[in-house]
Amino acid sequence: MTNQIDYEEIGLKVGLEVHQQLDTSAKLFCQCKPELFKEEPEITFLRRLRPTQSELGQIDPAAYFEFQKGVKILYEADRQTACLVEMDEEPPHPLNMEAVETALTVALMMNATPVDEIHVMRKTVIDGSNTTGFQRTCIIALNGTIKVGQKTIPIQHISLEEDAARKTGEEGTTIRYRIDRLGIPLIEVATAPAINSPKEAGEVALAIGKILRATGKVKRGLGTIRQDLNISIKNGALTEIKGVQELELIPLVVEYEVQRQLNLIKISEELKKAEARPEDLKEEFFDVTEVFRQTACKVIRKALEKGQKVLAVKLPRFVGLLKRELMPGIRLGTEMADRARFWGRVGGIFHTDELPAYGITVQEVEALRKVVNAQEQDAVVFVADTIENATDALKAVLERAREAIKGVPEETRAANPDGTTRYMRPRPGAARMYPETDIPPIQLTEEHINKIRQYLPELPEQQLQRLMREYGLNQKLAKQLMDSEYAELFETIVKESQVSPTTVAAFLTETLKALQRERVQIEKVSENRLREMFNAVALGELTKEALPEVFTWLAQHEDKSLQDAIQSLGLKLLSEKEIEEIVDKAIQANRENIEKREKEAFKLIVSLVMREVRGKANPEKAIEIIKRKLEKQEGS
Ligand SMILES: [Zn+2]
Repeated sequence: MTNQIDYEEIGLKVGLEVHQQLDTSAKLFCQCKPELFKEEPEITFLRRLRPTQSELGQIDPAAYFEFQKGVKILYEADRQTACLVEMDEEPPHPLNMEAVETALTVALMMNATPVDEIHVMRKTVIDGSNTTGFQRTCIIALNGTIKVGQKTIPIQHISLEEDAARKTGEEGTTIRYRIDRLGIPLIEVATAPAINSPKEAGEVALAIGKILRATGKVKRGLGTIRQDLNISIKNGALTEIKGVQELELIPLVVEYEVQRQLNLIKISEELKKAEARPEDLKEEFFDVTEVFRQTACKVIRKALEKGQKVLAVKLPRFVGLLKRELMPGIRLGTEMADRARFWGRVGGIFHTDELPAYGITVQEVEALRKVVNAQEQDAVVFVADTIENATDALKAVLERAREAIKGVPEETRAANPDGTTRYMRPRPGAARMYPETDIPPIQLTEEHINKIRQYLPELPEQQLQRLMREYGLNQKLAKQLMDSEYAELFETIVKESQVSPTTVAAFLTETLKALQRERVQIEKVSENRLREMFNAVALGELTKEALPEVFTWLAQHEDKSLQDAIQSLGLKLLSEKEIEEIVDKAIQANRENIEKREKEAFKLIVSLVMREVRGKANPEKAIEIIKRKLEKQEGS
């Protein structure tokens, strides 16, 4: 594998689409709560997937294929999070203006130009994730820019769209979807393909995410943000990668896709050198069932017991290439298997590059090669299934093999959690959008835009500078605060409690993160409780040293008050008189030591007293009392 890739040299171009759920009080086209439910569904209904014909008269080939497979969808709903709109029994209500204003805020923060009129469009959706067969989307603004380091990244458009239903299972040809997520407002920010390295892709995604968060109107947590990537290199092809959920993964996804395309280009060069030609990849399928009549391979035996067949095809001059790794764990053979699964509904494929294995013997491989008349430089692929499925699967394998001679195929891939990707479907053609006739266009007036412009939130960079300047925070702490959910709360606490800003910031970032690592459920403590805690510190009712302990207790006792925590933990602060008594007692008990080792007396008493008053007294206060008492001793 190439370690040092010159991304400029290979002409890497990446475009990013960020999809972020908005934290509105209702969904985009109805009044339902934009939340997910965990309980059993109250309502279920079954639909057959049908290919939607766009008004321009084109049928999406992938949609038609799914339709042919006879896929049915079982939708699950509850009454809090779905109504007749989500069930496609009622037309959509007017566009949610709270969502529009948030999108406009983002647009203006990115220097984009709002459209004069918002037109809601329908985008064909083929997988059943939308009860209507399309997703509603509308462009809010065009042609923005953001600064990322020294570079200006063009933003092509900022749009609003409805989120899709979420898949909860699949049994045979029935797919289950939950429609609670359907209709949650999503903002989409799409950059131009102006990103030129994996690292930069991560930085741009981070910068966009920060601007979105600065509006204070976006949902937080896993699953609330999804990024799609368009990646291409010189002599490669445009690959669309869907559904990267974690920001940290973006540079890796780009890196792997570059590796994949470079390796596919290399394979294509080798095939051309070996004089492999697409027209030599013929749809000649051999029934090789007899070869495996006595096989020890479990998968094949199971198929034969069901009366299925083993079909094989020859890939001339492909020997050794199917086991070639494209990115970690993904080989050319894996890509052929993905295609076979998608178009042929088979469990997988076998190929001679990985044999003998899986109970298949050398003798069986030799017999197989003989039947299909394979030469030394040819690979053989075979499938055990019904003749119909196996034929479709092998056709898809041949198609992938022809593409391998040409180079990199254009396709849509889905991101895996480890940063690699898998085949999802062919890249959809154009003409997938047509107007939503149930919603009239909405005019955006200059007055409306200007009003939003007046109240734009600070840009992340400005906020960072201000936190450092106004509160004397160092850059690291200010950055951590902005990455946390507590930047706003921080300012409130500092203003009302007068506790030192650094103490508050460190607690809200480093301390809470540490507690989270110790499995304290930090989200269980409300912002109001946090404010009370710092106010108690300011009033001398609580020491700042006791804050983590109090916080942990409150996280475990959600319905209890701060006073309950102080009481229960025995943290009630000692009165001055009580501290004096403890100091007196310590001095009394160590009188001899004090007289003998006058110089160390102070240290000794401090350590004894602290052991008793830790968390129950302000340390400065205790030290002051010790000093006073010891001076008295000397004087007497
Ligand atoms: Zn609804």
